Amino acid sequence: MSGNGRQVIVVGAGIVGVCCALYLQRDGHAVTLLDRDGPGEGTSKGNAGALSPGSCVPLAMPGVLRKVPGWLLDRNGPLTIRPRYLPRALPWLLRFMRAANPQRVEAIADALRALHAPVFDCYRPLVDAAGCADLIRPTGTLIVFRSAAAFAASGREWRMRRERGAEVQEVHGEALHTLEPALGPEFTHGALLPEHGFAANPHRLVTTLAADFAARGGRIERARVLALRSQGEGGVAVISEGRDLRAERVVVAAGAWSGAILRSIGVKLPLETQRGYHVTLADPGIEPQLPVSVAEDKYYATPMEGGLRVAGTVEFAGLDAPPNFRRARRLLEQVRSLYPRVRTERFTEWIGHRPCLPDSLPVIGWAPGVHDVVLAFGHGHNGMTSGPVTGRLVADLLGSRPPLIDPAPYDPSRF
Ligand SMILES: Cc1cc2nc3c(=O)[nH]c(=O)nc-3n(C[C@H](O)[C@H](O)[C@H](O)COP(=O)(O)OP(=O)(O)OC[C@H]3O[C@@H](n4cnc5c(N)ncnc54)[C@H](O)[C@@H]3O)c2cc1C
Repeated sequence: MSGNGRQVIVVGAGIVGVCCALYLQRDGHAVTLLDRDGPGEGTSKGNAGALSPGSCVPLAMPGVLRKVPGWLLDRNGPLTIRPRYLPRALPWLLRFMRAANPQRVEAIADALRALHAPVFDCYRPLVDAAGCADLIRPTGTLIVFRSAAAFAASGREWRMRRERGAEVQEVHGEALHTLEPALGPEFTHGALLPEHGFAANPHRLVTTLAADFAARGGRIERARVLALRSQGEGGVAVISEGRDLRAERVVVAAGAWSGAILRSIGVKLPLETQRGYHVTLADPGIEPQLPVSVAEDKYYATPMEGGLRVAGTVEFAGLDAPPNFRRARRLLEQVRSLYPRVRTERFTEWIGHRPCLPDSLPVIGWAPGVHDVVLAFGHGHNGMTSGPVTGRLVADLLGSRPPLIDPAPYDPSRF
């Protein structure tokens, strides 16, 4: 412990906020964790749990833009934009398209790889201390395809991963079905990512880590934060429903909801929610051993503690529109082709809000033009992976010591 002992408030107790709180606590800070709903009730609750150290391909790729019209027209497609929301989403979508230029894509891939690679190393001290190391499963992940042509179309992705030191093993034909015997016959090609793994219960992971934080003297309070007021050199006031608090430093880690808090300190960032859904099959009747992703349909099927979870789809409709659970139920149709013997009668469904910035990178760093406020949100499709690494980086930043990785690509002032 460096024992630099500041009063720090972390706003938001998802995987990012909880990991920030734990790493700051380890450094000797007096940390209070605020959440309007309690730990782990946001997007960190129901995601696919994939832990992906080699994941480095940004969402905005030149080829992706050509596929968008087809996805939008396909009822089962992975992407939808509610027509009424289009005008709100448009500026973000334009920035997203600009991020797809080839040079930018390579730089973003470097930054994603750097952020994701230490995932297991950064979880290890936290889960060991909290007694929940069993939740982190280094099984590898399998990405499957329906044809040689579909596999070959992802060639650029494999190249980008390999160039950055990530291992990709091709598994085709019989070898694929030996690796995962429950797979349907239409899947003929695959890539095994042996360094990957999954969190077997993302919600229990967040709540157990939060309980450990509290057991070690951290404070957790239910509070909906409405605004921050920077007090120059004198710290930050945190205005919430009920009562106000003060701290020397504040970390904003409220995921997709961070924008409203930032507006109170005059910071505007292009944060958008990409809504996603899951169905969790309580009694799937099959026992896959590792997460499988269907690349063409952009969803994951992960063997969770509570059943087989099928998670994916991207929906642009904002934070407040009611869920459209028909999208979740389409995942049921899709998983029946992935695993023909799967039983889908008993399931629960869920919607979550991926916090997304248009260049596929989060913001991790000091809020531009504001004293004492650190931003840590925008982890998009990969927050379970990048959450613990973000916690380390934020603690490095507040401790003024050399950071684990170069923080420059995640600097909030890039927008
Ligand atoms: C369908 C789906 C599948 C996914 N699959 C994966 C995957 O396989 N692997 C992976 O790495 N990532 C995955 N993700 C992404 C991952 O879930 C997110 O990136 C991650 O959970 C974001 O964590 P967070 O802590 O930033 O946000 P959240 O978990 O949403 O936490 C934010 C917290 O802030 C609180 N809050 C909000 N506003 C306020 C306020 N005003 N005051 C106080 N508290 C507030 C909320 O209650 C919430 O608890 C998936 C996401 C979805 C939707």
